[in-house]
Amino acid sequence: MNDIQAYTAEITNELLLLRIQQENIPQLKCPKCQQHTIIIKDKIVKCPDEQCNWMFFRTICGIQLSITDITLLLTQNKTSLIKNMKSKNGKNFDAYIVLNDDCKISFEFI
Ligand SMILES: [Zn+2]
Repeated sequence: MNDIQAYTAEITNELLLLRIQQENIPQLKCPKCQQHTIIIKDKIVKCPDEQCNWMFFRTICGIQLSITDITLLLTQNKTSLIKNMKSKNGKNFDAYIVLNDDCKISFEFI
């Protein structure tokens, strides 16, 4: 009987945790159409509108952008300094990720 109670408590905690994580995902407007709330997934960030079709890959040069950085990118057009990204020639580098005028992702080096 104790086992069942412990198990139930565990599941309840996990459900609560799940709900908190979902609530922490901010409601951010698509920078391109300014209409829809973007969808943040493990691999991509995108606008749900197929006409608009705005999206980017969340993992940039080997680093997955955190929710915090995605929020910064979409509210201030610039992330915090992202460290240890890997360039094509295998060198590590630090840079800010910025949103340019075309709503495309680019780098800003220090
Ligand atoms: Zn859009």
